[in-house]
Amino acid sequence: MQKGKTFIISGPSGVGKSTVLKSLLERRKNVYFSVSATTRAPRDGETDGVHYHFLDVDTFRSWIARDEFLEYAEYVGNFYGTPKKFVDAAMEEGKDVILDIEVQGAIQVCSKRPDTVRIFIAPPSWEELERRLTERGTDDPDKVQKRLLRAKVEFQTAHTYDYFVINDTVENAVNELDAIMTAEHCKPQERMEIISQQ
Ligand code: ADP
Ligand code: 5GP
Repeated sequence: MQKGKTFIISGPSGVGKSTVLKSLLERRKNVYFSVSATTRAPRDGETDGVHYHFLDVDTFRSWIARDEFLEYAEYVGNFYGTPKKFVDAAMEEGKDVILDIEVQGAIQVCSKRPDTVRIFIAPPSWEELERRLTERGTDDPDKVQKRLLRAKVEFQTAHTYDYFVINDTVENAVNELDAIMTAEHCKPQERMEIISQQ
C-alpha cells in the first residue's frame, strides 16, 4: 500500500481555499480533509464537526494541555488548530491528508514533519481578493480589513512554499492542485518498494 502524504494549503482568507478544496475532494478519492478546531463563531451554513470543531476558549486550551494538536495558532483574534489523531489515523489508512491552515501553523507542521508538501494559493489580484472577501458577506468591514492586512504578511512567506497556485478560476486552481498531488506521488522516494524489487 502506498503511504499517504500530507499537503498544506495556505493562502489569504477569502482567496477561495474552501471552494477549491471542496471541488478537489469531489475529484480525488482517498483524501482526508482535516477538520480543524477553532474558537471562532460558526458562519451561516457551517456545521460543527464538518467545517470545524467549534470550541470555546477553555476547551481549546484543554486540548492544547492534552497535546491533542499537531499545530495551533492565533489568527485575527481566534485560535485554530489541527487535531492530531484524525490526521494520523488517515495516514495509517494510506490516505493523503489536506490541511487548510495559515502560515504559522504550516511552519510548525513542517518542522515536525519535513516531508509535508506546502502549497500557497494566491488571488489573481488584491482587488479581486478584497472583492471576494467582501462579497462572501461573512465578515464586517473591520474584520475584512484585518484579514487583508494579515494577507499582506502571509504573502511575504509565499516564496518559502513548494508550490504557488493562482485561483483565477476554480477549475484552473483545482487542475493545478490535482496535478501537484499526482506528481508528488511519482517521486522515486515514494516508490522505493517497487524500485528496490528490480
Ligand atoms: P477561503 O476559504 O480561502 O477563505 P472561500 O472559499 O470562502 O475562501 O471563498 C471566498 C469567496 O470567493 C466565496 O464567496 C467564493 O464563492 C468566492 N470564490 C472562490 N474562488 C473563486 C474564483 N475562482 N472566482 C471567483 N470567486 C471565487
Ligand atoms: P476562516 O476563519 O476564514 O475559516 O480561517 C481563517 C484562517 O485560519 C485561514 O487562513 C485558514 O487557513 C486558517 N486555519 C483554519 N484551520 C486552521 C488550523 O487548524 N490551524 C491553523 N494554523 N490555521 C487554520
